[in-house]
Amino acid sequence: MSASVIDFIATEARFGARNYEPIGVVLSRGEGVWVWDTEGNRYLDCLSAYSAVSQGHCHPKILAAMVEQAHRLTLTSRAFHNDQLALFYEEIAALTGSHKVLPMNSGAEAVESAIKSVRKWGYEVKGVPDGQAEIIVCANNFHGRTLGIVGFSTDPETRTHFGPFAPGFRIIPFGDAATLEEAITPNTVAFLVEPIQGEAGVVIPPAGYFTEVRELCTANNVMLVLDEIQTGLGRTGKLLAEQHEGIEADVTQLGKALSGGFYPVSAVLSNNDVLGTLRPGQHGSTFGGNPLACAVARAAIRVLVEEGMIDNAAGQGARFLEGLKDIRANTIREVRGRGLMLAVELHPEAGRARRYCEALQAKGILAKDTHEHTIRIAPPLVITSDQVDWALERLATTLTQDFS
Ligand SMILES: *Cc1c(COP(=O)(O)O)cnc(C)c1O
Repeated sequence: MSASVIDFIATEARFGARNYEPIGVVLSRGEGVWVWDTEGNRYLDCLSAYSAVSQGHCHPKILAAMVEQAHRLTLTSRAFHNDQLALFYEEIAALTGSHKVLPMNSGAEAVESAIKSVRKWGYEVKGVPDGQAEIIVCANNFHGRTLGIVGFSTDPETRTHFGPFAPGFRIIPFGDAATLEEAITPNTVAFLVEPIQGEAGVVIPPAGYFTEVRELCTANNVMLVLDEIQTGLGRTGKLLAEQHEGIEADVTQLGKALSGGFYPVSAVLSNNDVLGTLRPGQHGSTFGGNPLACAVARAAIRVLVEEGMIDNAAGQGARFLEGLKDIRANTIREVRGRGLMLAVELHPEAGRARRYCEALQAKGILAKDTHEHTIRIAPPLVITSDQVDWALERLATTLTQDFS
């Protein structure tokens, strides 16, 4: 590494809170599926900023929309109307079939907003006694980093020494509908769940799970809240991952790719009266729904649809998964994925996934380990067949490498 690269890394370590452990590469430019480091080395981005850059780095049409809007008007606050918010509402509602939209910024804020809204719905519509609302969540969930959210995480690293936490959450195993039925009480207002557990290592629930979940929620007047912040907007080969299950959530959170990686934009969508319980002054955000965010999000969802990225995610995802399954390496325990949300789980004896990610970096691929033994693969949805094959060749040589 050159002196300047070491300086960036050392300076970050000296002044920054060390809440991340980045791979030793300093990126300075991106275009489509590619990123370049400060020394000019090119990498295929197989993380896409945790699926926020699904449309590819620096997509020219999103960039143009952002620059154009930034010249006109960036922030009004919701104290006044702006000429982008209504259009954003209209377009996201038409795309997803939802009736109400609440714009926020980060994914965690969208989750917090959904929690507040379903509690309010529980008290004011369902008739739960005040202060008694319960929300059911799953073990190994990841819904963000706020205090409210980490309070119902089951990952010790996420929770330890951040308490005390808010009550009102019950944790059940993921993928087992019988435990949901047992956990529901008259005070249950919602079941909050990821369609596929991304941070847990791309954990796909058994077929039929969500059909049962939907039926249980409907039968018990419990809101089904799907966190599609990572799975949504084409990542799994459908607009929303719920479509694989043939169900509709009552409340859905979107984030990440909602801006194509340009700007933090998130939203809560609801297809019933959950968001309707919010009255002026009861919830808000200075930046939520600002004209710059709305213009960027409008362009981000337009290119996703117009440029066929969702179908491409389905096609290239299938190709990528087949290719990964064809790799004969005794380091691999399991390969799984849906669309371009893929993971290679290594045998514990194969060593930490991070070493494989570092070896991949040397071959021009950036991927991220999760939970010690899993390599997550999630390239931008604009990836081509040639680029998938190029990545598979390098993954095959890396995964057959012996690090022990
Ligand atoms: C990333 C993520 C979040 C949190 O989003 P932030 O923008 O980091 O706050 C929430 N839920 C899921 C499923 C995510 O993948």
